[in-house]
Amino acid sequence: MDVVTDTELLPSQGETVLGKDYFMTPGGKGANQAVAASRLGGDVSFIGKVGNDVFGDRLMANLQQNGVNTEGIESSETFSSGMANVLLKNQDNRIIVVPGANNQVTAEYAEHYSHILTESNIVLAQLEIPLSTIEWCSAFCHEHGIPFILNPAPAQLLPETLIKHSTYITPNEEEYTKINSPSIEKDYGETFITTLGAHGVTYRNMTVPAPQVKAIDTTGAGDTFNGALSYYLASGYNVEDALYLSNTAASFTVEHPGAQAGMPTWEQVRERTDK
Ligand code: ADP
Repeated sequence: MDVVTDTELLPSQGETVLGKDYFMTPGGKGANQAVAASRLGGDVSFIGKVGNDVFGDRLMANLQQNGVNTEGIESSETFSSGMANVLLKNQDNRIIVVPGANNQVTAEYAEHYSHILTESNIVLAQLEIPLSTIEWCSAFCHEHGIPFILNPAPAQLLPETLIKHSTYITPNEEEYTKINSPSIEKDYGETFITTLGAHGVTYRNMTVPAPQVKAIDTTGAGDTFNGALSYYLASGYNVEDALYLSNTAASFTVEHPGAQAGMPTWEQVRERTDK
């Protein structure tokens, strides 16, 4: 859950200030990406954990309202829901992320729901749960021939076996510099799909441009891109077409404030493309 406080003043140590407004909005990269894929028409299941608290109920309800299967989500008795505390002052933001129950999504936990993985055409993961879980999941998918996409956000250096077990890895430009070394790029050049904001996306030596739109808030652009890429690849589109359609889907998100509100349906994407 993102708890966003809009303020003209930021408190210094020991000080209390009055803020202008606050709002709560369901977030988490995985949840946003699941909603993006579901809104396009995908049959989406989510494996994760929320806290046994008000946020947990809201997060779960939001996924269900967006058609996401929550069978693989449990409530932690001991940990709070993952939460981002966002202090917003004009364009400047300061964010504290508390992983809470997300850290309890262990490899054993994911393994308990491995039937969800084996029933899926594609599996998409992010780095907001422990790296050891992602490593297990990528190895499991590799072994079972299930395409595995890793959105390496928040960025950290990736072990080579994880790169090897991933079908695609989708950093933005900044993340790309943090997740690997140039020698890895030589061996796994066909794995990396790098998003370039308004410029679209680059894959191998091809750049697929994004539609030109009036961007008002880029929050959730990457999440929509990843949810859409998974949806279109799972639907049988080749990579080039899937990248083109995913750029188009993500371009809708930047035209609206917040992450999930602007995520498009397939019909909306179709109207903006010739597919
Ligand atoms: P992130 O949101 O993770 O930082 P990017 O900024 O690279 O990632 O954006 C992800 C995708 O969202 C891009 O590849 C593109 O498809 C789309 N996108 C982002 N910004 C814009 C924009 N200003 N206009 C059109 N599409 C955009």
